[in-house]
Amino acid sequence: MLLTGVMLASLSLAQKRIFIITDAEGVAGVCHQDQTEPKGTDMVELLTGEINAAVDGFFDGGADEVIVLDGHGGAHNLSATTIHKRARLIMGATPINLTFNRKYTAIAFVGQHAMANVPKAIMGHSFSSLGIQNMKLNGKPVGEIDMHTAMSGENGSPVIFLSGDQAAADELRAIVPNAATAVVKQAILRNSCDTMSAAAARDLIRAQAKASMALIGQVKPYTVAGPVTLEVEFTTRNSLTPDAALIPNATVVDDRTIRFRGATVSDAWRLYRASRR
Ligand SMILES: [Zn+2]
Repeated sequence: MLLTGVMLASLSLAQKRIFIITDAEGVAGVCHQDQTEPKGTDMVELLTGEINAAVDGFFDGGADEVIVLDGHGGAHNLSATTIHKRARLIMGATPINLTFNRKYTAIAFVGQHAMANVPKAIMGHSFSSLGIQNMKLNGKPVGEIDMHTAMSGENGSPVIFLSGDQAAADELRAIVPNAATAVVKQAILRNSCDTMSAAAARDLIRAQAKASMALIGQVKPYTVAGPVTLEVEFTTRNSLTPDAALIPNATVVDDRTIRFRGATVSDAWRLYRASRR
């Protein structure tokens, strides 16, 4: 059968494309920092198992395509040999915001952790535990959950699902109250936790990922009205150089802190990223 351009366009509109942002610190069975290095631990196996369970769940719920981003550290965690047969894998250190303009139907987090400075958060940090002390969007403390949810929202994609520890789930629900979550562990301290088994976590993730597909059309993309400020407080080892004063649309707040102004969250984020090159 010949398809006209209009038919093709409506076909592709109806396609449900789910984009999974992955991380390590929110995976069941991963509770201390040395486990987050890909070499020599079972983190990769635990992470891959949770991702593949989520992929199964999204297909169970009617997804047409599931794309997985290797989002932890230097993106050397996942392999095409072990990733779900039906998933696409984005490899290499890919700035996540560069992929948001690909018009995903919805976004999901797997293995996600909470932001820096949150009590009862397993390995909570904002983008870099070594490099960044705190990050604030319009004065509000934020981490990966807020920033990725806001930037995907600016591209029209809502976040429908998160798996991770209780603190990460609470953080997403604060901005997307009806998102589906799979809480696979609870913090006792920063580096000690009460975790589900891998098998139980995978079952929960698959079921919740499937359920989240029914939220498509109900969960609105989360956006933050512009203009915005993005303040980044680096750690001592990452103090600003004198050149920071020359960065356009930015104000040096103190020796370790700089504030960027952007028309949108994505704009401010791009300024911050460009300043680090
Ligand atoms: Zn992270």
